[in-house]
Amino acid sequence: MLLKLASRALFETDKRLLLKFVRIMGLGGVRSVQKHKQRLRRGEVFPPFLYVSVINSCNLRCQGCWVDVAAKQQTISPEAMGKLIAEARAMGNVFFGIVGGEPFMHPQLLDIFANHPDCYFQVFTNGQFITDEKAKRLRELGNVTPLISVEGNEIISNERRGRSDVLNRTMEGIQNCLNNKVFTGVCTSLCRTNIDDLLTEEWIDRLIEMGVMYTWFHVYRPMGPDSNPDLCLTPEQQLRARRFVVEMRAKKPIVIIDAYFDGQGKALCPAATGISHHINPWGGIEPCPIVQFATDSIHDESRTLREKFNSPFMQDFRKLSAATTRGCIVLERPDLLSQLVDAHSAEDATVRKTARQELDAMRLRTSQYNPGQEIPEKSWLYRLAKKFWFSDFGVYDGMDHSGTAARSFLEPGEDSASQPGAEDTEHRLEHVLPVIQ
Ligand code: SF4
Repeated sequence: MLLKLASRALFETDKRLLLKFVRIMGLGGVRSVQKHKQRLRRGEVFPPFLYVSVINSCNLRCQGCWVDVAAKQQTISPEAMGKLIAEARAMGNVFFGIVGGEPFMHPQLLDIFANHPDCYFQVFTNGQFITDEKAKRLRELGNVTPLISVEGNEIISNERRGRSDVLNRTMEGIQNCLNNKVFTGVCTSLCRTNIDDLLTEEWIDRLIEMGVMYTWFHVYRPMGPDSNPDLCLTPEQQLRARRFVVEMRAKKPIVIIDAYFDGQGKALCPAATGISHHINPWGGIEPCPIVQFATDSIHDESRTLREKFNSPFMQDFRKLSAATTRGCIVLERPDLLSQLVDAHSAEDATVRKTARQELDAMRLRTSQYNPGQEIPEKSWLYRLAKKFWFSDFGVYDGMDHSGTAARSFLEPGEDSASQPGAEDTEHRLEHVLPVIQ
């Protein structure tokens, strides 16, 4: 299987692009994670995998999107990006995840990539703006990989993404990339309406046949003003997704990314480990894209980015998150997150200014943390890679999650079944908040 994967990488992509990927992202990425580990030992965080939402606008209207896509357009300028990248480069970073909105609606997006040939960019996109001409330019640049989202069959894609003819137009974008031998990935936000169509061996085989080099199955999170919780996977479906990913990794010549498990199958939160944080289109520095609160901005000249990632709010988010659960604090304990936001007077970073009410209205849910159901990697390569470069880095050492995570409130097998009363919440807060004091 690994030989097949290596031969696909050699013969199905442009050799120059492959070399760039290995040199910048492979070697440079490993170095940046090593530096992250050294910094963690000193009690400092600067995320090696920085995600930047460069624009809020989007041509689609996805169910459960938490970005203010219809608000006045806001972008991160090439100058602001240049400054941000220079500071991150000085810390050893080479990778930048570019998110939106739809990043390809940013008028200077390709200039940003061209300005930084020593960095590698992964663009989360619906693919609909990737014409043949744009794909040629991406090939020429060589330091960009589009990660194009497919959310279901024709009918489900239209429903999930709030427009018509979505799948065809997205597939066209994918094909334009593949025709030009651009290193291309396809991702899916798994939910109840697409899991049976896309979490399948047939879909993986089709991606391989098309020439797609990697895939990523995210899990739908009920966030934003119109969160649509009916789309959430059940705990059993989440487990099925994890099992599928582990099996396919050992069987199919395609790379499958995930961000929520270590090599032994133990859950983790990339924001709690500090390996990744997010910057919104207005410059606000957020723990992750769905935690839309900030105390700092990249545009504030009085402090360095390094200081901002170690602000009291960011430090306390990481501590509270790690003390609460190995899973997602937003899903499991939005009540604790609300308290944290208040304690730091963190600003609602949205245009709609309802993020705090949305958080308060959330019901407790289970997340990737599923103690006793860990599924270790079967593939030795993923096991090894995760051991050294994608683990919890010890942030959960000594933490007891038995009384603070959502599972302690929910009946086995149920999601949002019972919610803590005010007294319960108060008691749990007493238990967790000392961690951040
Ligand atoms: S807080 Fe939740 S959504 Fe954010 S990075 Fe952690 S696990 Fe993911």
